[in-house]
Amino acid sequence: MSEFQPASPNRYPKRKGKPGRVDLDVSELDNLIDDQGIRLRIVPSILCPNRDTLEGTNHHLDCTVCNGDEAVDVVDECFETFGAIQSIRHEKKLEVQGIWDEKDATLTLQSKDRIYFWYKVIVLDFASIYNELIKKDDDDTDKLRYPPNRSCDTPYHLIDSENKSYRKGVDYRIINETFLKWLTSNRPKVGTLYSICYPVFPTFRVLETLHENRFYNVTSKEKERVPVNLPQQAVIRWDYLANRSGNRQIINEEPT
Ligand SMILES: [Zn+2]
Repeated sequence: MSEFQPASPNRYPKRKGKPGRVDLDVSELDNLIDDQGIRLRIVPSILCPNRDTLEGTNHHLDCTVCNGDEAVDVVDECFETFGAIQSIRHEKKLEVQGIWDEKDATLTLQSKDRIYFWYKVIVLDFASIYNELIKKDDDDTDKLRYPPNRSCDTPYHLIDSENKSYRKGVDYRIINETFLKWLTSNRPKVGTLYSICYPVFPTFRVLETLHENRFYNVTSKEKERVPVNLPQQAVIRWDYLANRSGNRQIINEEPT
């Protein structure tokens, strides 16, 4: 069986240059990002299949595959690269839990990297702070939403619902990347909520792609036309503010 050929090879001769024409040089932007961009880990994401029918959009509310996000991270296919992030909008958002700054930003990648809606973008060489509410389980460990960033000296803070403080290294410590282990009997009461503030890697979700499907022919230096994808730009939002299906429930997963 012959292989499917969507189009003939692109071997058309390039046009002679015209005075005043503008020719984009993608490699210059690529080099700039390579030189001055920050290191990122991109985690692809795929639509969660836990739905009732092909036609409807009803997603199972108690889905344990995606925990209600409606998308599943494909962790095995994550990759590291460089990109530029610029903050463009600080917008107040009123939620039940309080007032949030959405802090949407733009992400610009090199032309070789492709991202899509809902991909996770993790900034690897910087730290941010995350406030998390956790319901005290009846065993020694509780799961954190993000792996703490250990490469910074940002202090941890933890208080229970009676405003009693607990200290890292004395009352608890972090084990297996994302688990908080209680070390003594000095701990919050089972079933009550406690609040922990800890350093994390800034983590975003791709909300929309701004510059997408920008196809272009490079002709300035080559003998033939070279079709290229121009670099992508996307709007990204803090992962914990970018819920697809309303307010996130606090989910206490059992340690594995
Ligand atoms: Zn799901």
